[in-house]
Amino acid sequence: MRALAVNCGSSSVKFALVDTASGERLLTGVEEIAAGAHAATLDAVVERLAGEAEIARGLDGIGHRVVHGGETFRESVLIDEHVMASIEAASPMAPLHNPINRQGIRRFEQAFPGKPQVAVFDTAFHQTLPPRAYLYALPRELHRKHGVRRYGFHGTSHRYLAQEAVRRFDLPEKTSRVVTAHLGNGCSTAAVLGGRSIETSMGFSPLEGLVMGTRSGDIDPGLHAYLARHLGLDVDGVTEILNRESGLLGLSGLSGDMRQLEAAEAEGNADAALAIEIFGYRLARQVAGLQVPLGGLDALVFGGGIGENSPRVRARVLEWLAPLGFVLDEQANASHGENENGRIGQGGPPFAGVVPTDEEFLIALDTARVLGD
Ligand code: ADP
Repeated sequence: MRALAVNCGSSSVKFALVDTASGERLLTGVEEIAAGAHAATLDAVVERLAGEAEIARGLDGIGHRVVHGGETFRESVLIDEHVMASIEAASPMAPLHNPINRQGIRRFEQAFPGKPQVAVFDTAFHQTLPPRAYLYALPRELHRKHGVRRYGFHGTSHRYLAQEAVRRFDLPEKTSRVVTAHLGNGCSTAAVLGGRSIETSMGFSPLEGLVMGTRSGDIDPGLHAYLARHLGLDVDGVTEILNRESGLLGLSGLSGDMRQLEAAEAEGNADAALAIEIFGYRLARQVAGLQVPLGGLDALVFGGGIGENSPRVRARVLEWLAPLGFVLDEQANASHGENENGRIGQGGPPFAGVVPTDEEFLIALDTARVLGD
């Protein structure tokens, strides 16, 4: 089957046409979105794809990444009007993403009338979290009536990383204890037991957990009221600081981009060095904590732009995690595990590895599966 995967984010639209039987990527692309030009970018992508007659003709289905599936969706589904309504119902919980995802689906529906479309949710993989992991210690009716709970995100990436870890590192499928670290502009970890997510670092929104490019990750909830009063901000003003002005950017005062921070650190910038240090420290704490739900740890997998490309960050994290038994192979780390099938650690378990994540590939495979191929 030929499936087109569409990953319609807030800063880019990525797509991949995949022959799902052979796994071959027939076409991949990414279109950056200039501020406010979302609809125009979508149009450009759709026109390009529809313009290539070969694609329009040979396409069996289209899979879309959708950020929030609420508690409704535990797996990928064929999109109909009912599903579209459910995506809209979850929009208040993902106001920056779900409306954009819906827009993308509608635009492809117009361009490829009658082609089946599949929704692949970021939250679905984490719907296997037990209540002890997904409930906040808040009045229970906030969950029952208002859906307030931990959902987790980056599910497609975590699922891919965990599957690949089992395959590449020859781990037992049913009992493997894997921590996946998706480290891009947004960052999260997941504890994956026998292929099922049982804990993750993001929560109700993608703000909880690790230090990210511009997001704070965990902070004292008491800060909201303090910052609002003290700085004379409304709720949106505080949220803006936590989402867009914090994380690596806020700590370094320089950039939210790890590559730039590493370059600055190399030139002696102490704030950049401290930002990287806090990033690694907080990540290591998270990983160590995930031993509790997993009952131990076989492998830690790094993915995403930072996870795949930064020996500096991986080495620091594994240094923190040495008491757990991790031993870094410096040479393998320097080459991102290239000649070791991704492994950057000696001995173990536990050991660490690098897996280039591929959300579009998994979206395409899901699309084929949902369409019965
Ligand atoms: P997104 O979450 O938007 O998909 P990516 O997964 O591409 O983002 O990750 C972006 C992050 O990866 C940025 O912080 C970037 O600096 C970092 N990154 C990319 N390449 C490198 C590298 N060679 N060394 C360190 N960090 C890198």
